Amino acid sequence: MTAAIAALITAAAAAIRGHADTLTALDQAIGDGDHGVNLRRGFDAIAEQADTLAELPLGKALHQAGMTLVMKVGGASGPLYGSLLMAMGKDLDDRPITAPALADAFAAGIEQMKRRGRSDVGAKTMLDVLVPVQAVLRDRSARPVPEILAAVLAEAEARVEATRDMVATKGRASYLGERSRGHIDPGAKSSALLIQTVCTVIGEAAA
Ligand code: ADP
Ligand code: MG
Repeated sequence: MTAAIAALITAAAAAIRGHADTLTALDQAIGDGDHGVNLRRGFDAIAEQADTLAELPLGKALHQAGMTLVMKVGGASGPLYGSLLMAMGKDLDDRPITAPALADAFAAGIEQMKRRGRSDVGAKTMLDVLVPVQAVLRDRSARPVPEILAAVLAEAEARVEATRDMVATKGRASYLGERSRGHIDPGAKSSALLIQTVCTVIGEAAA
């Protein structure tokens, strides 16, 4: 797993760094303008541990990366993404990495994130991207990898855009009530970004 984990970490940290300003701008509109900064701090910390993480089985590496996010990120997104990765890692453990196993682990991660955030779909959060994307992955997990990746990418893109018309009922954006409508949710955007990154790395590895 060494090369794959290293590639994932490098790509995720680069994607977050490259889009930190976009994420922060989205959070300026309906939050406190720190989402890009928060995630950059977290993913830079993960990147610093890349050599150690790359030596671990994927499940253990995900769990450790999740703990780093919980510790390093002050905003709500750190503990939420951290819970997701920790629970995914725990579920995956050292099972063989297959699409169905990843779909199961993703579901376990989402359940933990829901518990941690006392949240669910429809509240204009990252869950509005993660939950439908997991369903697409689960439903197509027996299909060829390129087909799964294409379906996942299309779903992520559509769902992040769909948060624009939603009214936030969780997180800081919920303080705005109806005025949160008309803006894409920053966490939904970062989720789509990370999903795209994972798809790119898997696509390159499979090519
Ligand atoms: P903070 O809101 O503490 O400033 P961030 O700006 O880093 O933290 O993250 C904001 C994002 O976190 C939101 O755009 C939303 O997607 C997500 N979020 C906030 N609260 C919740 C929650 N209870 N459940 C799920 N996601 C949430
Ligand atoms: Mg914020």
